[in-house]
Amino acid sequence: MKKIYHELAKIVGADFVSDQPEERYIYSMDPGTMPAREPDFVVLPESTEEVRQIMVLANQHEIPVVPLGAGLVLSGLSRALKGGIILDMKRMNRILEVNETSRYAVVEAGASQGMLQAFLKKHHPALKHSAPDAPPVATIAGNVSIHGSGHLSHAAGFHSDMLNGLEVVLPTGEVARLGSCATSSYWFSRAPLPDLAGLFLGWAGTTGVITKLAIKLYPDYRFNDVGIFVTENAELIPDILYRMTGTRLAEDLTTWMTPKPDWAKGFLHCNVNYGANTKDELIWKRNLIRASVQKYIDQKVAGFMPLPPALKQPFLEVPAKTLSRFADVRKGGGFEYVGAILPVDLFPEAYTLGLDLAQKLHVNYSLGCRVIGLNHCMMFFYAYAFNRADPADVKRAQKALEATNRAVLELGGIPWKAEAPAQKEIIRKMDPNMFELMNRVRAVLDPKGIMNPGNWEVD
Ligand SMILES: Cc1cc2nc3c(=O)[nH]c(=O)nc-3n(C[C@H](O)[C@H](O)[C@H](O)COP(=O)(O)OP(=O)(O)OC[C@H]3O[C@@H](n4cnc5c(N)ncnc54)[C@H](O)[C@@H]3O)c2cc1C
Repeated sequence: MKKIYHELAKIVGADFVSDQPEERYIYSMDPGTMPAREPDFVVLPESTEEVRQIMVLANQHEIPVVPLGAGLVLSGLSRALKGGIILDMKRMNRILEVNETSRYAVVEAGASQGMLQAFLKKHHPALKHSAPDAPPVATIAGNVSIHGSGHLSHAAGFHSDMLNGLEVVLPTGEVARLGSCATSSYWFSRAPLPDLAGLFLGWAGTTGVITKLAIKLYPDYRFNDVGIFVTENAELIPDILYRMTGTRLAEDLTTWMTPKPDWAKGFLHCNVNYGANTKDELIWKRNLIRASVQKYIDQKVAGFMPLPPALKQPFLEVPAKTLSRFADVRKGGGFEYVGAILPVDLFPEAYTLGLDLAQKLHVNYSLGCRVIGLNHCMMFFYAYAFNRADPADVKRAQKALEATNRAVLELGGIPWKAEAPAQKEIIRKMDPNMFELMNRVRAVLDPKGIMNPGNWEVD
C-alpha cells in the first residue's frame, strides 16, 4: 500500500494524496443514509494528464477508482464500496471558455455550479446556465453525469440534454474527446457524430472519468417573476401542467407539497417561473400563463396565490434554498430523497403514494416535482430528513427510501441516481438484454472492473 501511495504522490504531489484515517473517514460518507465505506487513498489531481497517469497506475494494479465531484448526490454513489482511490476532482475547477454567440461554456470537471454562475454574472451577464437546487458547491460534471435537472429543465430538458461534449479518461488510461470537440476546436454539439457521450451519462462513474465538458447556456432575463397556482385536487395537476407547459412561456415548473408550515398542508402548489426583458413582456407572459388555466380559476377549484414581494423572493432564488433548509429540519444534517422519473400522467398516484408512505413509516417528508421538458416527464421527489446522530432515525429514513424506490418501480417510474441496492431492484425489472449490453460495454471500457465497482451490478 505504501508503494502505491508513493506512486500517487509522484503524480499529484505529496500534498494532494492521503492515506490518513481522518481523510479516509471524511471521504467515506455523504449526507444520505448509505453506510460509510472507507477508501484506501484520497487523491486530488490537477490536470487531465494527472488523471491519465492515475488511471494507468490503478489499471495496472487493479485498484478501484471512484470519481467524486462535491459528494452531494446523497445516494452514496461516490463512496468507495470496494476500497481503492477516491478521485476528488475539485482542483480541476477552471472555466476554460465561454462562447457567447453559440451559447456554451467549457469547464473542467471540478468546476462547481456556483463558480459558473458567478463567472457568468461577472463576465457574461446576458447568459446563464441551468442550475440544480443543490448547494452551489455541487459540480457541473457530477450533475450532468447523473442526468440531473434544474431551473431551465422545463425549457430545455435534463442537464445531460444540455451537454455539448466531453473529454474523458478511460479506465485503461486513454484520453478521448466526444462530440464536436473530437474533430473541431469548437464544442458546439454532440451531433452529427455517433453519440458516445451516453457511455458516461447515468452510469454512476462506472465507465470512466470526465475531465472536461461543454454545456449549453441560455439568455438571462432582466426581469423575473413567479406565480404559485394552488389546488387541493391532485387529479388536476397533470392537466394544469399540460396547459401551462403548452404556452412555452415559462422557464421552470415545479410543484411542492409539505405538511409544514400549517397553512401549506393539504395544498398542492405549482410554481411557474418566467422571465422577460421588459415589464410589458413580463405582464404579457403572466396573462397568457394565467389564461391557460383560467378554466380552473372560473370553476373555483384552483387559483393563483397573492404573493407580496417579500414572499416571492425565496421562490426566485437559484438555487432555491428552501430544500437545503428542509434538509436540516431534524437537525444533524441528514437528508436523502428518491427522485422518481415518471410520466406526468402519474402525478396523482405518485402524490398519494408519498402521503401513504409518510403516514405508514412516520418520517419527516416533503414532496414535489420538477417538470422536465414540455411535460415530457417529471422528476418527482420524496424527500426525507433525518438526524444523522440518531441511528433509529437514520434507519427509519432508510426504510422509507427503500419502500419508495420499490413503489416507484411498481408504479412505472424509475428511481433516479439510485442507491446501489435500488440499482439492483431496477436491474431486476430491466430488459435482460439491456443489462447484458451494459455489461458488455463495461467489459470493453473497463476490462479489469476498476471503475466505481459495486454500482450497476448484481451479486
Ligand atoms: C438540498 C439539495 C437539493 C438538490 N437539488 C437538486 C436538483 O434540483 N437537481 C439535481 O439534479 N440534483 C439535486 N440534488 C442532488 C445532487 O446534489 C446534485 O445532483 C449534484 O449536482 C451532484 O453533483 P456532485 O458534484 O455532488 O456529484 P457527486 O455526488 O460527487 O457524484 C455523483 C455521481 O457522479 C460521479 N461523478 C462525479 N464526478 C465525475 C466525473 N468527473 N467523472 C465521472 N463521474 C463522476 C460520481 O462517481 C457519482 O456516481 C440536490 C441535493 C441537495 C442536497
